[in-house]
Amino acid sequence: MRVTFLLKCSECGEENYLTEKNKKNDPDRLEVMKYCPRCRKQTLHKEKTKK
Ligand SMILES: [Zn+2]
Repeated sequence: MRVTFLLKCSECGEENYLTEKNKKNDPDRLEVMKYCPRCRKQTLHKEKTKK
């Protein structure tokens, strides 16, 4: 039961990373610190499920 989703920068809204997770193992929304090329720094990225 794998889900593909985007990690979106919470500061500028850029969708920087496409990743997968197992919904059964990780049911919560992911929030991770990742580098955003638009902000040119590490920002909080939140998951956005791809339709
Ligand atoms: Zn950004």
